[in-house]
Amino acid sequence: MTKTYNFCAGPAMIPEPVMQKAQAELINWNGLGTSVMEVSHRDKPFLALAKQAEEDLRELMNIPENYHVFFMHGGGRAQFAAVVNNFLGEQGKALYLVSGQWSHLAAVEAKNLVAEEQIETLDISNYQDKESTKSVTLPDFSNDKRDFRYLHYCPNETVDGIEIFDDIECPWPVIADMSSNILSREIDVSKFAVIYAGAQKNIGPSGLSIAIVRDDMLQLPSLPQPTIFHYKAQLETNSMYNTPPTFAWYLAAEVFKWLKDIGGVSYIEKHNKEKAALLYDVIDNSDDFYNDVALNNRSLMNVTFHMHDTNSEAKFLADAESEGLVALKGHRFVGGLRASIYNAMSKEGVKELVRFIEKY
Ligand SMILES: *Cc1c(COP(=O)(O)O)cnc(C)c1O
Repeated sequence: MTKTYNFCAGPAMIPEPVMQKAQAELINWNGLGTSVMEVSHRDKPFLALAKQAEEDLRELMNIPENYHVFFMHGGGRAQFAAVVNNFLGEQGKALYLVSGQWSHLAAVEAKNLVAEEQIETLDISNYQDKESTKSVTLPDFSNDKRDFRYLHYCPNETVDGIEIFDDIECPWPVIADMSSNILSREIDVSKFAVIYAGAQKNIGPSGLSIAIVRDDMLQLPSLPQPTIFHYKAQLETNSMYNTPPTFAWYLAAEVFKWLKDIGGVSYIEKHNKEKAALLYDVIDNSDDFYNDVALNNRSLMNVTFHMHDTNSEAKFLADAESEGLVALKGHRFVGGLRASIYNAMSKEGVKELVRFIEKY
C-alpha cells in the first residue's frame, strides 16, 4: 500500500509518534489498566497530565507569568463567542480586522451577540478586487483615539492561505485567533492580550480549544453566558468546571512533548519555512499551477493554489489521491486547491507533493 500523506486543513494530521504512543497505551494508560478516557479528571494521574501539558505549552511558547492557560471545549468558534461575552459587557466596543474567511466569521459572531454599535469591522484585505494578488495592509493606529476594549484579528487565514507576519501596533489589547498557526513559529506572547486556538490544526484532535489570557483582561465586565465559557470560571476550576475533553487534552499533552523533543518552536519554524518554500517554489515555477497571494502574506501552514485550467482540478485531486496525497481540495467557499502543511507534516510528505506537481 502506498503511504498516505494527509494535507487536510482540519482536523489535520497528528504526529505519527504521538499516534503510535496513543495506540500503544490506549487500553492501559499509565499502568492503570484503563484508558485515559476512562479515568476521573479529578484524580491524580489526570491532574498530573494537565499540569504537565500547561507547563510544556508555557515553555514552548514562552508564556509570561501574568497569562493564564485554559483548556476549554468548543474549538475555535466557541472562542469567537467567549471573547465577546467575557470582555465587552453592555457598553464595550471592539474592532475586528477582516482579512479573510475566519476573521470575517469571528466578526459575524460578535455582531450576533451584542448591540450593532459595539462591533466595528475594518476590511484590511483587497478581496474586492478578484483579479489582484491577495494581500493585507495593516493600518496605522498610532494616533487612533477611539476607545476599544480589544482589537481582534486572525494572523493565519486557513481558508485563504493568507498569513500576517507583522505584529499589530495599536493602543488596544490585541486578541488573535491562532487556530491554524499556533506553535508554528516563534511569537512574542506579551504583544497579545489573548491568544486562542481550536486544537485540530496544530495541537491535537478537534473539540478542544486553548485560550491564553492575560490576567488583567479578567477585570473587564462580562455578559451573562454559559459558565463553561466564562474565563473566570476556568481560572477558578483549573479548566475543570465541568468534565473537560480529556482524550483531546491527553493528545495535546503528547503533541507538546513531541514538539519539545524535536527541538521546540524555533526548530519547527525553520522546518516549516523550508517546507513552505519547497511548495511555493514548485507552484511558482509551474505553467499549470499558480498561487495568488502576495509574497509577504503567503501562509506557512496553508498553501492555496489553483490550476489555470480550473476544469482539470478534479482530475488533479483524483490523481493525487491515487498516489496517497490526500485532502488537497480547496475550502468549499473559495475552491481551488490547498495543501495544509502543519507542524505534523514531514518534509518528506511535502517533497512527495512537490514531485507530484513537478511531473504533472
Ligand atoms: C478552523 C478554524 C476555526 C474554527 O474552528 P472550530 O474548532 O471548527 O470552531 C476558527 N479560526 C481559524 C483560524 C480556523 O482555522
